[in-house]
Amino acid sequence: MNPMRPSSPSNPVGLSGPAPASSLTAARRARELAGLAAGEQVDVLVVGLGATGAGAALDAASRGLSVAAIDAHDLAFGTSRWSSKLIHGGLRYLASGQLDVAYESAVERGALMERTAPHLVRAQPFVLPLTPLVSRGQAALAWSGFRAGDALRLSARTARATLPAPRRLSAVETRHLAPALRTAGLRGGLLSWDGQLADDARLVTAIARTAAAHGARVLTRVRAVSLDGSGAVVRDELTGEEHTIRARAVVNASGVWAGGLVDGVRLRPSRGTHLVLRSDGLGDLPAGLHIPVPGQSNRFVLVLPQGDGRVYVGLTDEPVDGAVPDVPEVPEVPETDIGFLLDVLGTALDVPVHRGDVVGAFAGLRPLLDTSADGSGSTADISRKHAVLTSAEGVVTVVGGKLTTYRRMAQDAVDAAVASRGLGAGPCRTMSLPLVGAAAPHVLSGLKAPRRLVRRYGTEAPAVHGLGAADPALREPVVPGHPVTRAELVWAVRHEGAVDTGDLLDRRTRVGLVPADREAALKAAEEALAGA
Ligand SMILES: Cc1cc2nc3c(=O)[nH]c(=O)nc-3n(C[C@H](O)[C@H](O)[C@H](O)COP(=O)(O)OP(=O)(O)OC[C@H]3O[C@@H](n4cnc5c(N)ncnc54)[C@H](O)[C@@H]3O)c2cc1C
Repeated sequence: MNPMRPSSPSNPVGLSGPAPASSLTAARRARELAGLAAGEQVDVLVVGLGATGAGAALDAASRGLSVAAIDAHDLAFGTSRWSSKLIHGGLRYLASGQLDVAYESAVERGALMERTAPHLVRAQPFVLPLTPLVSRGQAALAWSGFRAGDALRLSARTARATLPAPRRLSAVETRHLAPALRTAGLRGGLLSWDGQLADDARLVTAIARTAAAHGARVLTRVRAVSLDGSGAVVRDELTGEEHTIRARAVVNASGVWAGGLVDGVRLRPSRGTHLVLRSDGLGDLPAGLHIPVPGQSNRFVLVLPQGDGRVYVGLTDEPVDGAVPDVPEVPEVPETDIGFLLDVLGTALDVPVHRGDVVGAFAGLRPLLDTSADGSGSTADISRKHAVLTSAEGVVTVVGGKLTTYRRMAQDAVDAAVASRGLGAGPCRTMSLPLVGAAAPHVLSGLKAPRRLVRRYGTEAPAVHGLGAADPALREPVVPGHPVTRAELVWAVRHEGAVDTGDLLDRRTRVGLVPADREAALKAAEEALAGA
C-alpha cells in the first residue's frame, strides 16, 4: 500500500518553501529510481506516460496502491501530444451507431469540464458553414447529429451552462462568427459546442503530477526493455544502466508501441495530420470551423483556433504500415496529407491559404486495435472503443480509446490488474478528483494572473507569473510574437520534470510546433535548464 499521504493537488504552489508533493524534479527522479533499482517492490508498474498511462498511475495511486510509472522518453512523448486537442462528446460515434462509445465520451467530457480539469478544458463554439457544396440533405443530417449530441450531453448530466445548445445561424451570424468564410452562396451555418483543451501535453503533465502528489513515482527516460507479470527489466536512458523493477501487477499503456512489449497485441495504427497556420493570415476566428469534406457525408476538416496566434487545421485518417518510429523521429507528415487539408480549406475560405502559409505540421498515430481477420479495411471504420487485454503472464495492456476517455481507460485497466493479482485497493476515485491546478470557475476567474496562464496552469498560474516579480527577465517571451514566457520554462524545470530542451519546447510548451519558432527559442530553453 502507498505509505505517502495524498497532499491537496489543487493547492497553489508558493514561491518559497519545500517543493509540493506534485513537483517532478531531476533529484526526485534519481532518488525514486535508485529505490526501485535497490529492490523496492511496488503494487503497480505502469509502462507509458501518455494520457492513458498517467491516468492509470493516478487511478492506482489514489486507490492507495504504491505505483511506479515509467516512460522511455518524456511525459506525453507519444500520440497524446499530436491530438486535435478536443475533449469531445463522441458525435462521430453516434453517427456510426456506436452509442456506448459516444455516451462514454460525453460522460468523460463532462467530468473533465466540470470537476477534474475546468482550467484546461473550455467550451469551444464551432460553425459548420452551409456553402453551395453542402446539400440540403447533408445539412439536415448534420443538424440532427448536433441535436443528438445535445441529447447525449443531457443524458451525461453535463450542464447547458457548460456546453450551450446547438443553433441554426443566419448567413450574417455565420459571417460574424467566421469572417474568413467565402460569402458567395453562403446560406447560413450550424453552431455547435464541444470541449477544447488548452493543450494535450499539458493535460498529461497535470495528470502525471497529480499521480505524483498521491505518491506515484513518475519516472521519465526509463524504458521497459521486457515485461512480465511481476515487473520489468528497464533501462535508465540517461545512464544506460539496466535495472529490474519488481511489481505485483504490470499495466502496459505504451500506445502504438504496446504490441512490441506483449505478445498477441495486434495494432493497426492510423495517421492523423494537422497543419499549423498563423492566425493573422486567416483573420479573426472567434469560432472553430467544421468544413465538410466534399463528397463525404460524415467527414469534416476542423479549423481549430488556439488563441496564441496559431490555428491548427486537421485531420486525416490513413492506415500506416511498417514500423512505428521511435526517438529521435516523430511520425512524418506526407505532402499528400498537407495538400488534402489545404484543398478542403480552399472550398470554404475567402482567404487563399497556400503551401507557404503552412508554418508547421504534425502527425500522430492512433493506437487502434486490429479487430479484422487480415489487417485490411479502412482505419476510419475501426472502433475507437478501448480494450483491456490480460496476457497469459498477467500483464494488463490497455489500448485504443482516445484522450477524452483516458480516465475510464485507466479505471478499467487498474480494475483488471487489481482483480487478476488480488491487490487490496480502494474503489476508483478519479471521477471527482481534481487534477493539479483545477478549481471552480469562480476561483479561476479570481486568480491574479494573465488569463492565458490560468488556462494552462490553473491555480498555479499566479506562482508561474510571480517568477517574473523576482526576475523581470522571466516575463520576456521566448520568441517575439509568441506568448510563452521564460518563466514557463523555468517552472517546467522546477516542477514539471523537464530535463532537456525538447521537453521544454515540444511538450511543456508547444513552441516547437513551428520549427522556426523552436529554433529561435532554443537559447532561452538552454538558459532555463542551466539556471535551474
Ligand atoms: C491525429 C490525432 C488526433 C486525435 N485527436 C483527438 C482528440 O481531439 N481528442 C481525443 O480525445 N482523442 C484524440 N486522439 C486520440 C488520442 O490522442 C489517443 O488515443 C491517445 O493520446 C493515446 O494515448 P496513450 O497514452 O494510450 O498513448 P501515447 O500517448 O502514445 O503514450 C504511450 C507512451 O508510451 C511510451 N513508451 C513506448 N514504449 C515504451 C517502453 N518500452 N518503455 C516505456 N515507455 C514506452 C511512449 O514514449 C509514449 O509516451 C487523436 C489521435 C490522433 C492520432
